[in-house]
Order: sequence, then structure tokens, then C-alpha cells
Amino acid sequence: MKKLSIAERLGTVSYLNQSKQNPKPHIIVDTDICNSTCPHHCTTFVCPADCYKKDENGKVYFQFEDCIECGTCMYACDQGAVDWNYPDPEEGMGVKWNFG
Ligand code: SF4
Ligand code: SF4
Repeated sequence: MKKLSIAERLGTVSYLNQSKQNPKPHIIVDTDICNSTCPHHCTTFVCPADCYKKDENGKVYFQFEDCIECGTCMYACDQGAVDWNYPDPEEGMGVKWNFG
């Protein structure tokens, strides 16, 4: 079996939230903290799905849609900027695990 890269593996994940018109984010990030007092921006390095990114001006922004619900950012952010809640199954969770 061919060994898949991380990007290829992430490509096999589908997201129940993406087909919804008003998806309910399960993670809210206070990017005012990211872009004012945060000294390290560590979530831009540790998120495996690249949900935390920097724009061309170096400003951190967050997009929850590609989140694979690994929980890393919940522990990595030591600045109090991440509000992480397990997706509500009634509202439509984020990840649909195709292989179990
Ligand atoms: S570590 Fe926290 S405050 Fe810093 S960029 Fe990441 S989410 Fe924002
Ligand atoms: S839970 Fe994991 S995949 Fe989702 S935004 Fe946080 S670090 Fe990224």
C-alpha cells in the first residue's frame, strides 16, 4: 500500500460542517490576543490541519473548517485565546472519519 503524506491523509477526511450554510464553529479564537500579546504564535506551528495561519502582514487568523479535532491547540495555547468545545452532534460535528 502506498504511504500517504500528511496532506494526502488530510485529503481523505470529510467535514460535516462544510455543507452547512451556517456552520457552528466548535473552536472560537480571540485573535486580538494572538495579534497583540502572544509572544510565540505556537498554534501556527503545531496545528496539523493548518487552521491557524498568518496573512501577508504576519497577522494570525483562524479557520475552523479543516479542523480534525485533535485537541492540540486547546493545550498549546497558553494565552487564553482558544475556546474549544466538542462539536454538538445535533448541530453537525466537524470531522467525518471515513475509516472508523
Ligand atoms: S498560541 Fe494562542 S494566542 Fe498565540 S497565536 Fe496561538 S491561539 Fe493565538
Ligand atoms: S483541534 Fe487540532 S486540528 Fe483542530 S484547530 Fe486545534 S490543533 Fe488544529
